[in-house]
Amino acid sequence: QQAGTPIPATLIPGDGIGPEIVEAVVRILDAMGSPFSWDVQQGGLAGIAACGDPLPAATLESIRRTRLALKGPLTTPVGGGFRSVNVRLREEFGLYANVRPVRTMVPGGRYEDIDLVLIRENLEGLYVAFEHYIPVGDDPQAVAISSGVNTKAGARRIVEFAFEYALRNGRKKVTVVHKANVLKALTGIFLETARAVARGYEGRVAMDERIVDACAMQLVLNPWQFDVIVTTNLFGDILSDQMAGLVGGLGMAPGANIGPGAAIFEAVHGSAPDIAGKGVANPLALLLATALMLDHVGRGDLATALRTTLDAVLREDNIRTRDLGGTAGTSDFADAVVRRLAG
Ligand code: NAD
Repeated sequence: QQAGTPIPATLIPGDGIGPEIVEAVVRILDAMGSPFSWDVQQGGLAGIAACGDPLPAATLESIRRTRLALKGPLTTPVGGGFRSVNVRLREEFGLYANVRPVRTMVPGGRYEDIDLVLIRENLEGLYVAFEHYIPVGDDPQAVAISSGVNTKAGARRIVEFAFEYALRNGRKKVTVVHKANVLKALTGIFLETARAVARGYEGRVAMDERIVDACAMQLVLNPWQFDVIVTTNLFGDILSDQMAGLVGGLGMAPGANIGPGAAIFEAVHGSAPDIAGKGVANPLALLLATALMLDHVGRGDLATALRTTLDAVLREDNIRTRDLGGTAGTSDFADAVVRRLAG
């Protein structure tokens, strides 16, 4: 992408703390010379208020056009029969890859120098939730059954994505995480396909394998042995939160959802209704998601500048929001980042 040509992108402020942290992100991007021209669209409760749907047709149309979105957290309405917006977005745009990097940013946590990436298959596995009950006697729900679905094509696509990601980002190793010793068909197909894909990268990116339970333990004992991890949907869901815990929790965790139809970037945390409107939310996770988005559109220069500035504000200026033990509000933190960018 040429510097100077605006890149159309959909911006969904979202609910709760969403508008506050999105405002901070937009201000910081503007100070950097934002490459994006935003099409602001509603989602979540704001979408329901505007047109009765947490994922309005206009928002979907915008993403279909821009194929690129930055999304604030959306409150999932309780009751009302709404399907999860995130699942609808995944299905609509074929967002098969969920990329979750974690990196130590604030010193003094449990682990120093963590720098890992988890790549989770986003459309298959037990997450498809093909579920039903079998009645026994007078209990209509005596037995619950759930079927998982993994395909060779789906496994090949996500593992290739992981190896290509490793190559592009100078990563040395991809660890394939599975449970093929017990779920021989469901996760065996994933492991076998991954082994075949890995052969095509021999000499360029190393591959190793872990059973998911052992991987969970080793992530706690010695996380530095890992580099990129690729796994199926449910294991990825669990391990990515565990990995966020290694570096201080979900407040610092960005996520990218990538597929043939679009790429959607977000913070992993929710809309934090308990602190919404108070000006204290931490914009860091959404800023890190923005850095992923800059990488995605070929503006690695701006992504690196943003990450370096965030590190300097946290470590040298010692400016942090309350969840990280500091006293700064959302806009104080954004001001500090803008000051650094200007200086
Ligand atoms: P949450 O992540 O919103 O909040 C959990 C705790 O972390 C709260 O105490 C909150 O104050 C704190 N927190 C979260 N983000 C923070 C930030 N940036 N700065 C400072 N503190 C922060 O999780 P929840 O309370 O379980 O969910 C609230 C709503 O968000 C629910 O409706 C849920 O469905 C939704 N949600 C949306 C997404 C998404 O859109 N991607 C993800 C998770 C949850």
